[in-house]
Amino acid sequence: MESFIEEMKRYLGFGPEDVALLRQLGPRMEKYLPELAERFYSQIPHHPNAQRVFTGGEAQIARLKQTLQHWARGLFTGTYDEAYAEDRFQIGYRHVLVGLEQKYVISAMGIVRTFLSECLLLEFPASDERLRYSRSLSKVLDLDLNLMCESYMHATMQGLRALNLQLERANQDLAEASRTKDEFLAHISHELRTPLNSILGFTKLILDGLCQTPEEERELLRDVFASAQHLLSLVNDILDIGRIEAGRMSLHLEEIHPRALFDSTLPLVAIQAVEKGLTLRDETKQMALPLIRADEVRLRQVLLNLLTNAVKYTPAGHVALRARLEEPSGMLRIEVEDTGIGIPPELREVVFHKYIQLSGGQSRRSGGTGLGLAISRRLVELMGGRIGIEDGPEGRGTCVWLTVPLAGTAAAQAEYSDREPHRRASIGE
Ligand code: ADP
Repeated sequence: MESFIEEMKRYLGFGPEDVALLRQLGPRMEKYLPELAERFYSQIPHHPNAQRVFTGGEAQIARLKQTLQHWARGLFTGTYDEAYAEDRFQIGYRHVLVGLEQKYVISAMGIVRTFLSECLLLEFPASDERLRYSRSLSKVLDLDLNLMCESYMHATMQGLRALNLQLERANQDLAEASRTKDEFLAHISHELRTPLNSILGFTKLILDGLCQTPEEERELLRDVFASAQHLLSLVNDILDIGRIEAGRMSLHLEEIHPRALFDSTLPLVAIQAVEKGLTLRDETKQMALPLIRADEVRLRQVLLNLLTNAVKYTPAGHVALRARLEEPSGMLRIEVEDTGIGIPPELREVVFHKYIQLSGGQSRRSGGTGLGLAISRRLVELMGGRIGIEDGPEGRGTCVWLTVPLAGTAAAQAEYSDREPHRRASIGE
């Protein structure tokens, strides 16, 4: 296949006689080259973008002037082969890399062309002789410019292709995110409808006077209350993830005693555990627990979420709460352990992504939004701790652990001073 430079030479009618003429011309042009460089530099700085490439310190300009003369010499003695083309390509690539646009090179070539025509006029007063040289000079300048433009095009295309690839990937990510969100919306709408339907159904029964005894009526009202609570917790999760995503989640960090936290949280899952025949163990009972620095309401929310999950995903056995001082972080490590269905090791990170519920029916059947762990992670991190999942007891079930800074420690102080003066912490601050 014909190479680009050969094709160009053919188009321009650039042949051996031109090469011969240019070689004759070279020595006669030599004396004009320093002036060519001066002319070039006196004109080029008018282009703001070109200044970045063609200007600099004195030494830099002197070097660039030498390069320009070297290039002009090459026009007359060039071999005009593949290597010559490659050289022009490389220069073009460098220009594209530094952001020099094609129009500056075209106008720079215009400067060179005008100047060299003036030189020819001085050098060859006889017009027929001048014309012969002028034609060959014109062709070689066109050849050179074509090579440069081609390299610009090539480099730009390469850049575009890379950009396209990036865009394609971003598009795929967006499509995936949008699909997950759609699925979430479908799922959450279903989730919201379940307690709403219960509330409507039960209240209708009461309003229609279908309860035989006041006790029956109270029983139904209890169901209405439980469904309303469930509905509220779903809506709260949705609001929380929205706040977190918008960077507007505020925390109130203070010194709290883990004992008070545990004692007020465990009873909230006790009934569910008993109903499923599970043992709920507080293994921190006999421990002396250190003060921690956290947002009590939010830490309770996290703990409750972990305990609720543990009960939800455990058909038989026990759910246990444990705590210990963790080395070397010096933080309090809290663990919620269960003997339930477990989470495969490869999915232990994924479950912290929002909207994720493991397939296999159990999670979907168990209700929930797939937001609990995502919210928990952001809350724990905002309090300066970490959260993760390990094997449960004897390799079965699940152990979800989290760490919280102790009150008065550097970790807690760092968190504290970050959030001053309002003593409010906010994601995205
Ligand atoms: P959900 O509202 O679905 O419980 P979470 O974010 O709290 O949302 O949990 C995400 C998923 O992680 C759950 O759907 C479930 O598949 C899995 N999971 C969470 N905790 C446990 C656990 N203790 N045992 C087994 N699987 C769990």
